[in-house]
Amino acid sequence: MQERFDVTLNPARIVFGDGALDRIPECLDTLGCKSALVLSTPNQESQARQLLDQLGPLGAGLYAKAAMHTPVDVTEDALQVFAGCRADCTLAIGGGSTTGLGKALALRTDCPQITVPTTYAGSEVTPILGQTENGVKTTISSPKVLPEIVIYDPLLTHGLPVPMTVTSALNALAHAAEALYAQNRNPIATLMAGEGARALIEALPAIIEDPGNADGRRKALYGAWLCGTVLSSVGMALHHKLCHTLGGAFDLPHAETHAIVLPHALAFNEVAVPDLLKPLAEALSSEAAGSGLHTYAKALAAPMALKEIGMPEDGIDRAADLATQNPYWNPRPFDRDQIRTLIENAFHGRAPERIVL
Ligand code: NAD
Repeated sequence: MQERFDVTLNPARIVFGDGALDRIPECLDTLGCKSALVLSTPNQESQARQLLDQLGPLGAGLYAKAAMHTPVDVTEDALQVFAGCRADCTLAIGGGSTTGLGKALALRTDCPQITVPTTYAGSEVTPILGQTENGVKTTISSPKVLPEIVIYDPLLTHGLPVPMTVTSALNALAHAAEALYAQNRNPIATLMAGEGARALIEALPAIIEDPGNADGRRKALYGAWLCGTVLSSVGMALHHKLCHTLGGAFDLPHAETHAIVLPHALAFNEVAVPDLLKPLAEALSSEAAGSGLHTYAKALAAPMALKEIGMPEDGIDRAADLATQNPYWNPRPFDRDQIRTLIENAFHGRAPERIVL
């Protein structure tokens, strides 16, 4: 039993279930709102337009230019559309990129948000917003950006392509894994992380076999909710820092980078905190979380090597420098040589090592 802890639970309302999308009118009513600006990426524009049509007078318009990493110029363009229509809230339908646009609008207007996630990114339950301007990414944390209502409708994820399903779920799993050993961990976050990880790990093989497996899709979205929730309540460590550094330095895709680095970061940290990672190892039916996850991800045909997703080999040293430049908390202290070995292993797609130099 942990000796002492602090817990902050975010006040969002969660509406979960197959067909939950039909509950938008009731959700608008709860917020005291009359009509919503629907947000999406260009990729999901037709789905968003169909939703707008279904909403009738409850829909004020559609803005379908949400983009990865929440570019500020897109937000400013969307702000003009928001101001020019009769919307009194936003309704974001899509993955983390669309959720990010809704959060960016809320930051600037204080408008309420309903968010309908269609991936497992988890951003919808965090008060965190990353924005990019002139190629520079800045991250803020503010209760203003936390969506008031999240509608999880697993039916909307049946069409999420299998490769994206796998990387998005492994990205969610990373939040749970690092929550288990977080410096400010607490019993509630630990429960949610273990349950979230178990749900995702059970769900993925069933979804790969049949992407329309309703129980698998429900379980995965439930797991993603829990994993996102722990991301918002405890601090992350080496794994998230490495992914942030690699993604920023080499413009690597977000979810894939997480999927590749996670087994390596866990194998490294497991040397210091094997007991804390035990729930994850058990969920993977393995002796150890890092090696167990490597085997599991390989069986799912997840991407395994940073070289496959666009990282240059001469970037390994730069990445090791950047990732060890500023000190931050991690359950196991590390030095540059150890981190270089970790990144090199992830670059080539080798099996993860405990790295005791
Ligand atoms: P994404 O939102 O960029 O989506 C990728 C593509 O998949 C988009 O074109 C999208 O329209 C499409 N898509 C989404 N759902 C689909 C579905 N069900 N079927 C078919 N296509 C679908 O990707 P993501 O991984 O969900 O989000 C990544 C972004 O979220 C990154 O910018 C990341 O930084 C951010 N993020 C933020 C937080 C936070 O707490 N602030 C947490 C996690 C991720």
